[in-house]
Amino acid sequence: MAKIGIMGGTFDPIHNGHLLLGRQAYEEYGLDFVWFMPSGQPPHKKDRHVSRMEDRCAMVKLAIEGQKGFVFSDFEVSREGNTYTAQTMKLLKEAYPQHEFSYIIGADSLYEMESWYHPAEVLASVPILVASREYDKEHPVMKKQIDYLTDRYGARIQILHCREINISSEEIRQAVGKGLFADDCVPKGVGQYIRSHCLYREPDTLQKCKGKNRNITIG
Ligand code: ATP
Ligand code: MG
Repeated sequence: MAKIGIMGGTFDPIHNGHLLLGRQAYEEYGLDFVWFMPSGQPPHKKDRHVSRMEDRCAMVKLAIEGQKGFVFSDFEVSREGNTYTAQTMKLLKEAYPQHEFSYIIGADSLYEMESWYHPAEVLASVPILVASREYDKEHPVMKKQIDYLTDRYGARIQILHCREINISSEEIRQAVGKGLFADDCVPKGVGQYIRSHCLYREPDTLQKCKGKNRNITIG
């Protein structure tokens, strides 16, 4: 039996906030492993272009290289079609009945979870470890949301006492799109990967980047 925290995300790109969350969960809850599990085509992110799965996975692997207890998991990307968290948790428990899973999230996910596919199943399936995170829409305090989800769905939710880190993938994509550096927000290898593959470029800076990286296939 191993205690495994699932760190799921689009990871477009993975950043230092994700890594800090994983590390805090690993240490605070005595996990044996944290599985970094990139999503396939995420159903709730259909409104924007999501980078190729190959690029997102490559960046996750670079980010966790040499990090104790951190493991890459292709459990979602290897499934066809939409991958919903409710299904993932069910399938994980079936595939690995010997392990004890928990689900690591930021507060924004806690506030939005009720709009996911079959939220009751997600919330009842595995314990949740949640870290606070800046959230710009109106919302109750985190403790209130935890009490609400616990009462309504029988969720088991614990707080990750993580230092709040104000980074999002969206902010990184926007900065890089304008040709700015975001290297302070991502591990070194990820910063290099973004540059050499010309990810997140807007049309005007994309051509310039492609010119500099002619030998690399860009999706
Ligand atoms: P995007 O801006 O594209 O939505 P993101 O930075 O929110 O990207 P995701 O891949 O959507 O990253 O997030 C995966 C999980 O990590 C979610 O549960 C999210 O709440 C959590 N998370 C991401 N960044 C942080 C952060 N800075 N602090 C706390 N939790 C975070
Ligand atoms: Mg997000």
